[in-house]
Amino acid sequence: MNPLSFSAINTFDTCPKQFHHLYILKDVRSKTTEANLWGTKCHKQLEEYIKEGSEITEPAARHGVPYITAARTTLLGCSERVEWKWGLSADWEPAEFFGDPMLRGVIDYLALSEDQTKAVVVDWKFGKKKEDLRQLSLFALAVFCHFPAVGKIRTIYAWLKTGDDTPTVKDYVRDDIEILKCEWLGSIRQVEERLEVDVFPPKPSGLCRGWCPVDSCTHYVAPRG
Ligand code: SF4
Repeated sequence: MNPLSFSAINTFDTCPKQFHHLYILKDVRSKTTEANLWGTKCHKQLEEYIKEGSEITEPAARHGVPYITAARTTLLGCSERVEWKWGLSADWEPAEFFGDPMLRGVIDYLALSEDQTKAVVVDWKFGKKKEDLRQLSLFALAVFCHFPAVGKIRTIYAWLKTGDDTPTVKDYVRDDIEILKCEWLGSIRQVEERLEVDVFPPKPSGLCRGWCPVDSCTHYVAPRG
């Protein structure tokens, strides 16, 4: 099986048929929107700010700076990783992102205390606020597996579009690791079971109205205009 990511599993949960086309058949690609391009630009500006102190010109990206300052202050002398590509093997060992991991992902910003016992993970969000902690739980699992000394992790969705939204914050401790493994293994098994029977049923939703890239699907409705 190809490595799974949060996006792949989330797509599978949203619509198995869309997942099949995007991640297995690979005969369609996600639509690139103006909002995606802008989000990528903001991520890049934050990356360069963290690495080199470069100027941030996008007002939304500037809203991310207090999160970096707070992590650097709380975890004095911390080491940082930006756009950190991680992988996890089937036995939850650290693996290369570009190897053949079971799971993989990218963490926008990771700060580790000097003794590596505490961590802060921040995911920059440039869309509408949603309360879904699943991606944070996967990031926490990745950090616990890669850094065995880490006992506590503060994970944050930083909603930067307007700067008015309060962040979504979830703390994890190492004792949570078995529950996290269990939850993600359950999601992975569901995908594996579908792959075994090779049946990926459509799950119609509002996405069918022009947002889904599978325009060959009988549920697809072309956007107006
Ligand atoms: S059009 Fe709707 S049902 Fe069909 S693949 Fe896309 S999301 Fe799924």
